[in-house]
Amino acid sequence: MITANIHKINQEIGVHARLIAVSKTKPLEMLLEAYQGGQRIFGENKVQELVQKYEALPKDIEWHLIGHLQSNKVKYIAPFVAMIHSVDSYKLLENINKEGAKNQRVIPCLLQIFIAQEETKFGLNPDELYSLLEQLNQTPLPYVQIGGLMGMASNVADATQVSNEFKGLKNLFDKVKSQYFTHQASFKEISMGMSGDYPLAVKEGATLVRVGSLIFGER
Ligand SMILES: *Cc1c(COP(=O)(O)O)cnc(C)c1O
Repeated sequence: MITANIHKINQEIGVHARLIAVSKTKPLEMLLEAYQGGQRIFGENKVQELVQKYEALPKDIEWHLIGHLQSNKVKYIAPFVAMIHSVDSYKLLENINKEGAKNQRVIPCLLQIFIAQEETKFGLNPDELYSLLEQLNQTPLPYVQIGGLMGMASNVADATQVSNEFKGLKNLFDKVKSQYFTHQASFKEISMGMSGDYPLAVKEGATLVRVGSLIFGER
């Protein structure tokens, strides 16, 4: 069932986006089933759970942290994490840089942008994003690689609203790319779209979609 779900989603997203299987709260057996079906990219939102699953499962899995990250927890994931999607401050980036240096690896990060109408979501607004980018220009962090932007749309049925929020993130990505990352091919990811809205996200230019319940069932 899990493998069939993944296959169906991959067919829908095509070659333009990669699927992150969001496995938070799900048991190892379910992740292993997805792995045996060919899935290699998994997303978790809690550091402790991410580390436990990393230790228990095959080492060719790419682990993405998609949830809010506290500075004091960076050290636990720095040795192996493939990408951190949820960076929302320069201070956090400094910490990731420090732990990257300790582990002698450059850690790919996405900057999380607030795109929803809802009040509860994490993320930077455009002003905060630009001031973070200016700080990075002034004081570059060699063990951090800014790989792109991440966002979560409003959890509403209105497809036009959701599409517009995704469009906004894509426009911001294009602007930031041309202003700050013209010569950096590694700034290329737009992480947007979940179980309820990933087809819309892909249509608006997502390169990474984060899908959980549609693969593994409701949490
Ligand atoms: C849980 C989660 C998802 C996946 O949600 P589903 O609706 O189950 O697909 C995607 N992104 C983030 C940041 C999440 O926390």
